[in-house]
Amino acid sequence: MKNKGLLIVLSGPSGVGKGTICEKLVGARDDISVSVSVTTRKPRVIDKEGVTYFFRSRSEFEEMIKANKFLEWAEYSGNYYGTPVELIDEKLERGEDVILEIEVQGALKVLGKRKDALSVFVAPPDEEALYARLRNRGTETEEQIEKRIKAAEEELKHKNKYDYIVVNDVLEDAVVEIERIIKNEKEKDAK
Ligand code: 5GP
Repeated sequence: MKNKGLLIVLSGPSGVGKGTICEKLVGARDDISVSVSVTTRKPRVIDKEGVTYFFRSRSEFEEMIKANKFLEWAEYSGNYYGTPVELIDEKLERGEDVILEIEVQGALKVLGKRKDALSVFVAPPDEEALYARLRNRGTETEEQIEKRIKAAEEELKHKNKYDYIVVNDVLEDAVVEIERIIKNEKEKDAK
């Protein structure tokens, strides 16, 4: 649709570098933003309420599900994560692009509902290196790491359902590639 912003679903396994890629994409332009999700997981030291996530209890999250507050939500690794629908359409209407940095179950739900969304799967250059990275980043317990590795194995099976797969081998190259994909998509939409 002309003059509307692009909804970009950026997905891929935990630890693949989606967050860093998003920071770079958002840092390069002022008419693109990342949607802030709601989660029931415990905040990490670097987390900030309302900036990295909105942190809520399970019962608060379940209330939000009932009240239809989410574009999508999923249970991942023992916690709920969801994209608040509010603001997204407002931004798109204003012509701003919005990135959803989300795991695969939620991403597939969005792609079922929003046919005009652009989907990008960020893949690791090598799965063993991804699992080693998840182990070494020191933000999860051993039990949580095991859950995330299992989830990653499952998520990698769905990569062909996305419009594009970008391998995050060299970060800057992956960012340039995604910027190019977004630019091409917007040019197509403008025609
Ligand atoms: P983390 O706990 O590492 O911040 O996030 C765990 C996973 O949940 C990541 O793959 C992240 O992209 C995903 N995630 C974050 N927000 C959402 C959301 O709103 N919905 C869904 N489905 N996944 C999300």
